[in-house]
Amino acid sequence: AASGAANIGVVGLAVMGSNLARNLASREGNTVAVFNRSRAKTDELVQTHPEAGFLPAFSYEEFAANLQKPRTAIIMVKAGRPTDAVIDELMRVFEPGDIIVDGGNSLFTDTIRREKAVREAGFNFVGMGVSGGEEGALLGPSLMPGGPDESWVTLGPILKSIAAVAEGEPCVTHVGHDGAGHFVKMVHNGIEYADMQLIAEAYDLIRRGTGKSPAEIADIFAEWNRGELESYLIEITAEVLRQTDAVTGQPLVDVIVDQAGAKGTGAWTVQTALDLGVPVSGIAEAVFARSLSSHREQRDVSGSLPGPDDAAFTVEDADAFIEQVRLALYASKIVAYSQGFDEIRAGAAQYGWNIDLGAVSKIWRGGCIIRAQFLNRIADAYAAEAELPVLLTAPYFVEALGRAQDAWRHIVQVAAGAGIPAPAFSSSLSYYDGLRAERLPAALIQGQRDFFGAHTYKRIDTDGTFHTLWSGDR
Ligand code: NAP
Repeated sequence: AASGAANIGVVGLAVMGSNLARNLASREGNTVAVFNRSRAKTDELVQTHPEAGFLPAFSYEEFAANLQKPRTAIIMVKAGRPTDAVIDELMRVFEPGDIIVDGGNSLFTDTIRREKAVREAGFNFVGMGVSGGEEGALLGPSLMPGGPDESWVTLGPILKSIAAVAEGEPCVTHVGHDGAGHFVKMVHNGIEYADMQLIAEAYDLIRRGTGKSPAEIADIFAEWNRGELESYLIEITAEVLRQTDAVTGQPLVDVIVDQAGAKGTGAWTVQTALDLGVPVSGIAEAVFARSLSSHREQRDVSGSLPGPDDAAFTVEDADAFIEQVRLALYASKIVAYSQGFDEIRAGAAQYGWNIDLGAVSKIWRGGCIIRAQFLNRIADAYAAEAELPVLLTAPYFVEALGRAQDAWRHIVQVAAGAGIPAPAFSSSLSYYDGLRAERLPAALIQGQRDFFGAHTYKRIDTDGTFHTLWSGDR
């Protein structure tokens, strides 16, 4: 191919970048320029995929020369300083008007900073969340681009051509300016943490309550996947539980060390929510549950802490119990998504993004880890009322929560009584009851604050700010 012939480029050819490059190359009309800091990955990709017709480059200058103007390049390298390093190199060899896209898992505040710096240098910068892992990158990811409107004109058609398709619609939308895309991707990951923790709690309760084997519980999840819980995570849970270890013949889940890892995006979601003052308690519990699991030394010294009599936990009607767990899972899931969308709403208000929450729920229906039928209900809710202050108050969810709440309360009671941790189930229920409460004990907290710090309070019966001369005042 001739120089300057590529309409799109990819920098960073590790698993995500190489798969995204192959996805791009497989679409009609695309010629893809590729570049990697070290030569080996480029050679390997070009040699193993001659059908892709890649235009390889071995310097940034050559990479720039291989691209049509305005040049468009997607960076898929390690988030953090490597991303800054690549942006600097691209700005050195690109010209004003060219488009630099960061498809890594960057923190949205980094994206805001980079967008400003790159824009001031005359280039367009798009921070884009990419979800779906390596398979998504290759076959169709969910894409969450931010950045300026002008870049969407060039980039939009390319991204639509490679994104996953859900119910005939590509899983990509221009989320908002600067860091909006990475913000939404961050919250996606936070919701993913909550979803996974809720599924894990459901599994644990069923296993300990009914004594069913992982393979039997796999059948339950497979069954749930045919109903309102239908989702990728429920589907893969059945697969994981069904897996037998080749070495021991045991269920694989019993051979895996029970310490959950994390790469940090869940923690970012919670840190950001704390800054914004948004109670994402379900997501926070999921992040903390992973941290607790990983503290093996603390768990070792805590094994002798007294708990309830294990024998007390016998489920009489296993089928009824399993259905109650399913309803508790569904209700808690509604809370987790409602909290996540609340965080996006608050982030949009704080950072001045015009984010269409219904469009966000739709682009998560395919390609990404939290893809689910359920997201259609969220899209419906925002279609009916775009400014819905709390997602779970949409009529569909109110009905579902009403249907689930007895079971939900029962399961949280059973878990507490049996000494089985169910942090996400129980905190979701507390959040729900907190929202419902006509009066909260926050009034008492205001009294305490006024007592020790003269922080003042408001009255229910009149306007103004009040301070009491407490007996403690000297
Ligand atoms: P990665 O392991 O995060 O990064 C490896 C790539 O970064 C290599 O191409 C490496 O080049 C390059 N790199 C590192 N430091 C560099 C520097 N200073 N200058 C230039 N290039 C540098 O790769 P990945 O797993 O494919 O992920 C890429 C991005 O996608 C990351 O931001 C990741 O968080 C994000 N992401 C990953 C997934 C996933 O499922 N893995 C999903 C969504 C998003 P060399 O070959 O020269 O070392």
